[in-house]
Amino acid sequence: MKKRKVAVLGATGAVGQRFVQLLDGHPWFTVAALTGSERTVGGTYHQGCRWVLPGEMPAWAGELSVLPSEPGMDAEIVFSALPSELAQTVEPDFAAAGHQVFSNASAHRMAADVPLLIPEVNPDHTMLVEQQRQQRGWSGCIITNCNCTATGVTVSLKPLLDAFGLQRVFVVSMQAISGAGYPGVAALDLADNVVPFIAGEEDKLEVEPLKILGRYDGHHVTPADIGISAHCNRVAVSDGHVVCVTAELGQLTSAAEVIAVMESFAPSQAVRELPSSPPKALSVRLESDRPQPRRDRESGGGMTTVVGRVRGDPLLHVRYVVLSHNTIKGAAGGSLQNAELLLAQGLV
Ligand code: NAP
Repeated sequence: MKKRKVAVLGATGAVGQRFVQLLDGHPWFTVAALTGSERTVGGTYHQGCRWVLPGEMPAWAGELSVLPSEPGMDAEIVFSALPSELAQTVEPDFAAAGHQVFSNASAHRMAADVPLLIPEVNPDHTMLVEQQRQQRGWSGCIITNCNCTATGVTVSLKPLLDAFGLQRVFVVSMQAISGAGYPGVAALDLADNVVPFIAGEEDKLEVEPLKILGRYDGHHVTPADIGISAHCNRVAVSDGHVVCVTAELGQLTSAAEVIAVMESFAPSQAVRELPSSPPKALSVRLESDRPQPRRDRESGGGMTTVVGRVRGDPLLHVRYVVLSHNTIKGAAGGSLQNAELLLAQGLV
């Protein structure tokens, strides 16, 4: 396959750096452009980016000039790691100019004609892009991935919904520092502390999974009829969001059956064959003290959702802990996988 030219918008930030790292040697994509803010435009990526990931910044990236986040560059596919307020106007400009935009920002996630995509969960929702292009008169499009905390929760709920039905879900998150971007939360707020508030996060966690788990009837998505209640907390962990989930199912079942259903969860073959798909989308650990961010976040190259402590619950039906890497599966890796899916489906 001929490699497609891609750009990364907001390439100097926490998610942008993950894109650069994951695009290094990608079999389908080659990076043609990196963008930043006024702070970094004009210099090289090496000059403008304080690289905070393990390993070295790829040499080819360091030599690229940082461009303004404006359409017109020679890149068919555009990965956006822009702040949401900016994405609100910039991403439609790119789509109207014919670029295929894969966004991490929340700005367009809930628009009726924008796919909110997790390939393992709702690969059929990609068909919304045809409607989007037609309605908006664009040759490009916008496809979004969901909030990084909602990602692991939604992957873990999908097999439960299919096997047992879901009524109500109660979630409490412990979210990593990198989820706030770079430089993110001040050290004095975070060290030796838990911050029990993340602006806008609980709303996203209560709404986005319903669209992803919703049914697409060929015209629009009907959100899943599930009640979700969320508490979100910031904790002093570098990467990997942990969420405690308690669920009321549509029918009584045992913890053993829940584990069996999660263990056997398998996305379609087309999704499994995408370059960024991990060998296992959902992995269940049976030890009493897993998953843990430091030990389990790199599972499947950061693309596997890891569940543990599956057990019955005295108030609802079942409870468990779920871990997902927020800047890989929950952001850059998920976005690459989305673009790969659209390419495999012939939609871009
Ligand atoms: P970040 O570390 O703060 O990075 C923001 C990026 O946007 C930087 O590259 C910055 O460029 C650029 N930028 C800021 N203002 C700009 C402007 N006026 N014009 C052009 N570029 C501008 O944030 P992040 O954590 O990477 O998040 C990026 C997006 O992904 C956000 O929408 C966020 O909500 C979403 N997201 C983040 C995560 C996560 O785990 N961090 C997960 C899922 C989704 P300069 O460095 O040049 O200023």
